[in-house]
Amino acid sequence: MVNLHKRQIVQNVSCNLCNDHPEDVLHAVWFCKEISSVWDSLDWFHQLVTAPPVCFRDLLARFLHYREEYRAEIFVIVAWLLWNRRNALHFGRPALPVATICGKAGSYLQGFLQAQSKVPGQSQTPIAQQWRPPDSHCFKVNFDAAVFRALHRAGIGVIVCDWNGAVLGALSSSIPLAQSVADVEALACLKAVSFAQEIGLTRVVFEGDSAIIIGALNQATGEVANYGNIIEDIRQQVGVFQFVVFSHTSRVCNSVADALAKKAKVVMVEQLWLGDIPSDIAPLVYLDIH
Ligand SMILES: [Zn+2]
Repeated sequence: MVNLHKRQIVQNVSCNLCNDHPEDVLHAVWFCKEISSVWDSLDWFHQLVTAPPVCFRDLLARFLHYREEYRAEIFVIVAWLLWNRRNALHFGRPALPVATICGKAGSYLQGFLQAQSKVPGQSQTPIAQQWRPPDSHCFKVNFDAAVFRALHRAGIGVIVCDWNGAVLGALSSSIPLAQSVADVEALACLKAVSFAQEIGLTRVVFEGDSAIIIGALNQATGEVANYGNIIEDIRQQVGVFQFVVFSHTSRVCNSVADALAKKAKVVMVEQLWLGDIPSDIAPLVYLDIH
């Protein structure tokens, strides 16, 4: 509206959604209170925008170089959806309800990543095959680890979903740094097994993106590596399950567990969520629903 006013096309610059402020691009996709619930549900965007942006280009620049957890991609998709929604309302077309924007962004992101993995000649990790449970009483537990070398600590992330993709619980835990990355990955798996046991699961597929650890678990022979003891502990603990599989997955499909592991860098105490997941991780879950 501000741009249209500059060109003397409209008289009134106020935002059609809130009727409270002049509507420039920044207001339309960031400041307008009518859409604030979208960004409020993505805590980490606010954390990155400490000083108020002066224009959309300034806002975009804060995210473009942020390569972790697909934040740059999610920001661009959400902003694009909000802009399209604004235009649909402006021209009287059907518009997405605000509450569906994050979910929609997640499915666009998944489509984008799948398209990326199909580009010929690019050696990217292919998106894992769609996950199909052996039966409908089976649960999927994803685990991952993150190493924070400067802090001499590591993070463990675990997420539990049912066969329909609904989240049952999640965990983010900080541990002292082990000898090797493989040790940390093995400890993440052990934690996932304990967590699954604690919440009473009996039929479980454990998914991790560490080929070494999944490979070791699926080999019958004893271990000589450091993490051999941890592998043995895992084998003993899973004895209580009726059904258990250890499956290797791509890092893309393990992104929720990865994000939960990285969360342990800032929060040292173990965090547990049951039936719900932290709001800053929620958009990533859409990536992982198979
Ligand atoms: Zn507004």
